[in-house]
Amino acid sequence: MYDFAVVGVGPAGARFARRAADAGYDVLALEKGEVGTPLACSGHVSTDIWEYVPDEARDRLFQNRIYGANFRVGGPNSKAYPFYKQSEVSNVIDRVELDRTLADCAREAGADVREGHTVTAVEELDDRVRLTVSVAGEAGTVQFEAKMVAGCDGPTSRVRRALSLPEPSETLHGVLAFDPEPDDGDFVDVHLTVPRFFAWRIPRGDAGVEYGLAAPPGAEVTELFDALTNTYDVETEHFCSGAIPIGPPDRTTTRRAFLVGDAAAQTKPFTGGGILYGMTAADIAAETIDPDDPETLSAYESAWRDELSREIRLGHLVRRCYSFPEWLQRVGLRSLSGEIGVHMDKPSSFFSREHLKKLL
Ligand SMILES: Cc1cc2nc3c(=O)[nH]c(=O)nc-3n(C[C@H](O)[C@H](O)[C@H](O)COP(=O)(O)OP(=O)(O)OC[C@H]3O[C@@H](n4cnc5c(N)ncnc54)[C@H](O)[C@@H]3O)c2cc1C
Repeated sequence: MYDFAVVGVGPAGARFARRAADAGYDVLALEKGEVGTPLACSGHVSTDIWEYVPDEARDRLFQNRIYGANFRVGGPNSKAYPFYKQSEVSNVIDRVELDRTLADCAREAGADVREGHTVTAVEELDDRVRLTVSVAGEAGTVQFEAKMVAGCDGPTSRVRRALSLPEPSETLHGVLAFDPEPDDGDFVDVHLTVPRFFAWRIPRGDAGVEYGLAAPPGAEVTELFDALTNTYDVETEHFCSGAIPIGPPDRTTTRRAFLVGDAAAQTKPFTGGGILYGMTAADIAAETIDPDDPETLSAYESAWRDELSREIRLGHLVRRCYSFPEWLQRVGLRSLSGEIGVHMDKPSSFFSREHLKKLL
C-alpha cells in the first residue's frame, strides 16, 4: 500500500508528488494521458515559476519576457491603456515542457509516476482508499491502494465527484490558438470585449503569437474567438480549449482525500491562472498532511486558505471591473494606467498602501 496516491500529473500533482516523495513517503502518481498533453493553457506566469523548476530547465521552458499589458475596452484599434513596470512582470513559458519537467522532478524524488493510467473510480474505506484504474492498451482494470488520495485531476476532477465534494462556484470556458509568426514584444494585449472576462494576445517569442479568451457558460466562445482573430486579421492554428474553475468550494478534504490545484479551484478569479496557486497549495499539502493521521487534513484545509483566500477574494473584486459599463471602464483605465508596482499573482499588492500612494 502506498502512502499517497496522486490522481493527475499536472503542475499541482507533479509538485505534490515530488514534495511528498522528498519527505520520504511512498507516492504513486497516475496520469491518464501523456504528461503535458493536451495543451490548454497560455503558460503566462509570474517569475516566481523559476522557484519550482531546476535552473537547467530554464532555457528549455522560457519563451518571452513581459513588461506590461495594454488594456482596451474594444478591439486592437481602440485606445490602449498601458500598465507596465520597468522590470519584467511575467514570463511566457512552454507549458507542455513545464509539466514534463515537473513530472521528471517527481520521478527523481522517488515518486512512481505512471502515464496512460486513468482513474475510473475512487472508494474511501476506513483505513485506506482504493483506486480503480484503466491502463492504456490493456483490457480490464487494476486496483491500487493508498492511505490517502490527492485529487490533482484538474477542473472536472473525478476524485471530487466520486467523493461528493462540492463543485467550484463557476467554470469558465477558455480557448486559444496560435499564429506562428515570431513576436518578442514586451506587452500582452487585454480586450474587455467578452462577457465577465477578457480576450488576450500574447507574444511568445519564436513560438509565435497566442490569441485566446475565456467566458462564462452560455457565451458563444467560438464566435467570440473568430471575432477576435478577425479584428486582428490573423489565421490561427492548433486551436485548444479547456475549463477554468473559479471560486474554491467550501470544502476540499474528506477523511482520506484532499484536492489540490484546479480540482480545488485554487485559481486567480481575475485571470483564471492557476499554475502557481496550485503549486503553492501542493507545497502546503506536503508540509501539513501526514498519511497516517487523517486529522492533519483539516490543517491543510485551513493552511491553504490562510495563504490564498485573501488574494482570491481580492481577485474577485478586480474581476468585477470587467463587467462595469464601458464609460466607467474607460475612466478607471485612464486614471489608473501607467507604471505600476504590482505582483501578478497578488492582487493585495495592487491594494497595498505603497501602490495606492503611488497611484494617487
Ligand atoms: C485557455 C486557458 C489558458 C490558461 N492560461 C493560464 C496561464 O497563462 N497561466 C496560468 O497560471 N494558468 C493558466 N490556465 C490555468 C492552468 O492551466 C491551470 O490552473 C493548471 O493547469 C492547473 O493545474 P492542475 O495540476 O491543478 O490541473 P491540470 O493541469 O488540469 O492537470 C490535471 C491532470 O490530471 C489528469 N487527469 C484528469 N483526470 C484524470 C483521471 N481520471 N485519471 C488520471 N489522470 C487524470 C489530466 O490529464 C491532467 O494532466 C489556463 C487555463 C485555460 C483553460
